[in-house]
Amino acid sequence: MDDSGGGEVSSTGSKKVAIVPGDGIGPEVIKSALAVLEAAGARFEQIPLEIGLSRWKRTGEVMAEEDLRTLKKCDCILFGAITTPPDPNYRSVLLRLRRELDLYANIRPFRSKDLDFIIVRENTEGLYSGLEEVGAEESRTLRVITRRGSQRIAEKACDLVGERRNLTIVHKSNILHSDRLFLKTCQDVARRRLVAYDDMLVDAAAYNLVINPKRFDVLVTTNLFGDILSDEAAGVIGSLGLCASANIGQSYALFEPIHGSAPDIAGRDIANPIGAIRSAAMMMKWLGNAEVAKRIEAAVQKALEEGKKTPDLGGSCNTRQVTEAISQYLKLQLD
Ligand code: ATP
Repeated sequence: MDDSGGGEVSSTGSKKVAIVPGDGIGPEVIKSALAVLEAAGARFEQIPLEIGLSRWKRTGEVMAEEDLRTLKKCDCILFGAITTPPDPNYRSVLLRLRRELDLYANIRPFRSKDLDFIIVRENTEGLYSGLEEVGAEESRTLRVITRRGSQRIAEKACDLVGERRNLTIVHKSNILHSDRLFLKTCQDVARRRLVAYDDMLVDAAAYNLVINPKRFDVLVTTNLFGDILSDEAAGVIGSLGLCASANIGQSYALFEPIHGSAPDIAGRDIANPIGAIRSAAMMMKWLGNAEVAKRIEAAVQKALEEGKKTPDLGGSCNTRQVTEAISQYLKLQLD
């Protein structure tokens, strides 16, 4: 199943990739991803940027306006994770990037020995609208669903369904009337695209992901539901550390593991690097080098089959050993 989000660029020769390792385990897993890309023979220009808590501690800001300009000049971003600074006025950098770069589709493939499904999460509206009134006694957040937003995420989900597979539209339209627009718009797109579809309430989807995950092929849903179901799906396939994502817009993209900065395990060389490595593979596919992406995924599979696993998967390897194993398989393929 195609899960890169669809790149239009045909050669990676002169591509500029912004590298944002971030905080916590971010730098550890991004270092692994870069080592694996090198072992796979991927070529691109790296533009490193310091964005996140460490930057905030040094300068009082998480990201400078100049960084945003630099990011916009790159072809795409490889992103680790950012720890939220202890500042009550802090607004998420990731949300800002998703909005400023209009990265409307968050594509999250979940793969294990016997599971293979994709969650397509709307990335710019819903309960992440940023429209909030915060008071001591009462607070409100406005949930925004638009026809345009629903339409374009449904189109992207249909692109990913492929020939024989099914789209499940996940919503809560029995309670949230804003979801009626989401559901109807997605149904209209699926019908027009001749894609087989069904729909499911989000609570039922949460249950089915645990009880019968094989019933799912591609799920499309709104922002918060997609966020929560993704962590659940990661649990179902074994670990947050295995899972990758692509944030895709019209002409720009950001690739990141779905996990956060995991401060509890940072600096101990035990973070699972596979989510970041798979994100790098998705990036290569989006940049037009599907061959490298395929080889990286095959090397990841081989490492897992041969028990090269970090402790989150019950293994005894450290981050470096898993990275070396995957890199070694890739180098053998190249020889
Ligand atoms: P943030 O606020 O930055 O999202 P968080 O701690 O709330 O951070 P995660 O960073 O996603 O959320 O971590 C959730 C749990 O999953 C933690 O116990 C963490 O150690 C574990 N975890 C996350 N990523 C990995 C990984 N790559 N390898 C192993 N364990 C991980």
